[in-house]
Amino acid sequence: MFNFFSSSPRFKLLLDFLIGIIVCLFIFKTFTLEIPVFGFHGIFDELTPPGNIRNFDYPKDQLKLFLEDLAQRKYWFLSTQDLYDYFLSPQRKTIPYEHSRDRPIVLSFDDGYKNAHTKLMEILPEIEQQYGKKIKIVFFINPGFMDKLGNNTHASCADLREGYKKGYYDLQSHGQNHENLTEISLLRVESELSRAQKNLKACVGDLDSTQEVANHFAYPFGATNDEVINLTKKYYKSSYLYNSRALHPLHDKDKYRLSRFTVNRETSLHSLQAKSKGSWF
Ligand SMILES: [Zn+2]
Repeated sequence: MFNFFSSSPRFKLLLDFLIGIIVCLFIFKTFTLEIPVFGFHGIFDELTPPGNIRNFDYPKDQLKLFLEDLAQRKYWFLSTQDLYDYFLSPQRKTIPYEHSRDRPIVLSFDDGYKNAHTKLMEILPEIEQQYGKKIKIVFFINPGFMDKLGNNTHASCADLREGYKKGYYDLQSHGQNHENLTEISLLRVESELSRAQKNLKACVGDLDSTQEVANHFAYPFGATNDEVINLTKKYYKSSYLYNSRALHPLHDKDKYRLSRFTVNRETSLHSLQAKSKGSWF
């Protein structure tokens, strides 16, 4: 049976075709720049009541192992402005010498959950003390929830200022009220974009000497379209999807459709580590 197929010209053609594809993928993967951008949400631990754990939250112990592993390797934890300046901008800056051999990575957390803030404020200083590495976290914030009376689920402005002052947080916009921008009027889209920027800058503006707060955006639910993008361009320099794809900054030319890996409680530590290293498995 095997001899019949292996000697068939059609089989050989198919085999050559498959080998060709695998070689092309290997070359693409090896020689193109891929920046893993991770999209987390909340963080839970053994003390979190099971009813309070959302599907897209991530366990603290696994997150800590992931970050400790990264801190011991040669990674460059990019802010959204770093990603823009060194990899996306038409006038790309030269990569600083101290990062020339580091692998760039972006760690983002959407929605500004309180439990993400409190757990990160435990993990990040410990890692910094133990490994001498300061990990930068991008928070995509909805200012509409920031200081809402009686809202204990989201980080307050004071919380965000704490993380920012300590040098851990890059604070960027996720819309004022986490609306699906493809399902509301363009007037409301513009209001969501502009109010979020204004309010986030008002929260940390006095600390933001480099004017890097609220210049980048992540679409709520990852939802966007051409009309939303046109309005987003009025206020922000770049914006992020939530689409489980790797970002190839030199090939993916659209700065308003930047890919991110989705993370939820089912995502294994192994999967995070494989993606951070650019592995297939
Ligand atoms: Zn969100």
